[in-house]
Amino acid sequence: MNKLCTRLKYKKYVLDDMSMTAWHCYRCNLTFKDKSHVDMHKEISRHDARKVELPE
Ligand SMILES: [Zn+2]
Repeated sequence: MNKLCTRLKYKKYVLDDMSMTAWHCYRCNLTFKDKSHVDMHKEISRHDARKVELPE
């Protein structure tokens, strides 16, 4: 079960890495590649992250 989880996470990471879409929080100057991290950040800090396109 744990192994499967890790594999799924890895696969997701690779897919995210291939996409050039990211989210940037200008207040923290942080860039997020994972939408779930953006949601987490929004919940914690109440900051809105803007969608950006990352150069390759
Ligand atoms: Zn922030």
